[in-house]
Amino acid sequence: MEIKIVQAPPAQRKAKPADESKLGFGKIFSDHFFTMTYHTGRGWHDPLIEPYRKLQLDPTAMCLHYAQEIFEGMKAYRGKGGALFLFRPLENIRRMNVSAERLCMPRIDEEVFLEALKKLVILDREWIPHGSGTSLYIRPTMIATEAALGVHPSDEYLFFIIAGPVGAYYPEGFGPTKIFVTEEFSRAVPGGTGYCKAGGNYAASLYAGQIAKGMGYTQVLWLDAAERKYVEEVGTSNMFFLIGDELITAPLQGTILPGVTRDSVIQLARSWGVTVPERRLAMDEVMAAIADGTLREAFASGTAAVVSPVGQIYYRGNEYPIAGGKTGNLTERLYNEILQIQYGEKDDPFGWRVKVAD
Ligand SMILES: *Cc1c(COP(=O)(O)O)cnc(C)c1O
Repeated sequence: MEIKIVQAPPAQRKAKPADESKLGFGKIFSDHFFTMTYHTGRGWHDPLIEPYRKLQLDPTAMCLHYAQEIFEGMKAYRGKGGALFLFRPLENIRRMNVSAERLCMPRIDEEVFLEALKKLVILDREWIPHGSGTSLYIRPTMIATEAALGVHPSDEYLFFIIAGPVGAYYPEGFGPTKIFVTEEFSRAVPGGTGYCKAGGNYAASLYAGQIAKGMGYTQVLWLDAAERKYVEEVGTSNMFFLIGDELITAPLQGTILPGVTRDSVIQLARSWGVTVPERRLAMDEVMAAIADGTLREAFASGTAAVVSPVGQIYYRGNEYPIAGGKTGNLTERLYNEILQIQYGEKDDPFGWRVKVAD
């Protein structure tokens, strides 16, 4: 399938943000986006990069009623010499197809998907900011567009990819976060869609997030839904605890999102000789490790921040400081290593970097 490109006329192009220190996240998007349409019986057709525009949907479009919607989140990075890189894009592409299968949506050919990412990044390369730690955030999305009410898998879909510049996550150095353990709400259940990047999961997580924010916490730490005993994830990131000499993270058993950053952290830490068990970790064990001083570091991992140190945990009415509220050595080493691989400043022993342009 040949991807057609229709360029935005110069008069229609937007001004690039003047101050890269004020980019923030998710507010500004580039001049173009990728679209591709699916009809049952015909398959995916008309892959196109076109000027960014509003979508037209029938009010009965099925995504609006039954949440048949999935997405991905990844970044393009500008290296010091001007080369452009993606980080492990095939992992995002495959994960989107896993989400698609679970939500009865059509899979996307890996090659077409990768080609669309590369072509969009190259066409809108001027939108990739230059400042240290800045990047182009990329949001592939699939929605059910069939105009019909009644719960059934849609016969029509739109796949699109938008991209926009985002600022450095830590412009003034690490800021350890405060997290709130909820025993009242669940994000995902066994047999559910917790392992998918499906919009519905995030709608279901907002309520607990608001409660946590109201109490002064940045993120919710989710426990398993069955027993509310074991650590699962934090906000939209995976969670790691360094207890003694072991870096412990939850296993992939269908209720947590298999983060690309999670996997990168595991591989890197193991290559440095750190033991990284993927096992269930009970809150009791975390509390015991805080009490006896063996909980050395805690951090969340995800594309947005790479790693985000946790400085405080709220659990059952009490606040517990972690690592004295400071960023741990292993957390910082993982952050620096992954960032340098992403920006082409270090060897890439695992072959994670994909060069898109020189
Ligand atoms: C996206 C996401 C993550 C992190 O995945 P990355 O691929 O590392 O960005 C973790 N948990 C949830 C719930 C997510 O949505």
